[in-house]
Amino acid sequence: MYIDQEKCIGCQKCLNYCPVAAIEYSGRSKDQKAYAFINRDECVECAVCYRARVCPTDAFVQEALDWPRILRSAFSDPFNPHKGTNVPGRGTEEMKTTDITNRFPEGTIGIGLEFGRPGIGLRLKETEPVIRRLLESGIKLEPCNPLTELITDENTGQLKTDAANEKVLSAIVEFIAPLEQAEEVFDIIREAAQATETVFSLDIVGKVSADGSIPVMQEVEKAGLRVAPNGKVNVGLGRMVAK
Ligand code: SF4
Ligand code: SF4
Repeated sequence: MYIDQEKCIGCQKCLNYCPVAAIEYSGRSKDQKAYAFINRDECVECAVCYRARVCPTDAFVQEALDWPRILRSAFSDPFNPHKGTNVPGRGTEEMKTTDITNRFPEGTIGIGLEFGRPGIGLRLKETEPVIRRLLESGIKLEPCNPLTELITDENTGQLKTDAANEKVLSAIVEFIAPLEQAEEVFDIIREAAQATETVFSLDIVGKVSADGSIPVMQEVEKAGLRVAPNGKVNVGLGRMVAK
């Protein structure tokens, strides 16, 4: 994304629309004209500024992006499906909504670590330490996830070097673990929370048992984690799994 300097009249109407404050205001350029410009290193290519249609002169220009910059758009613009997974956004559909194909069987816990948020974002490399720790513990990451696709070394969790410094709005580390490994996994997540320079939220997926209990929640309580009352809860009826 860039702002056509010939069209910008410096009205500043766009400044508050950027979720990572990448639109800056110069005051005066060499020709004494006031104008806005985009800090390319901070911009996550989410296209919010473009879609907001607040610019009175249509000065925002959405350009074709090359690798690795195109990753910014794939992870930040929900209108741009990720080319590898064909998933709009950053996680798999079932993790984010409902388990319709029984991918999270009883005895397992589904976890999503949603790194970054509007206002802060993240560099993709900030997910590497927690990915490395999970892989060391034998966890397999969700293959149909845009972040997993960027891992070049399955032992260290290292991302493609030219992708690692790309800034995005958010990225999800997504996996399924046996329920008996939940305690270890929560310890790793606590370590990640201490080490990260951005923020992340913890998504948990679990089945309700036939007796109405929720085994995953027992593990959450054992670990002393507090479920936010304002958290998002998706309840899905799913498909029949019994024949
Ligand atoms: S594309 Fe998104 S991040 Fe970039 S300047 Fe526009 S609103 Fe900000
Ligand atoms: S809204 Fe348009 S004209 Fe106004 S400062 Fe932003 S880019 Fe420039």
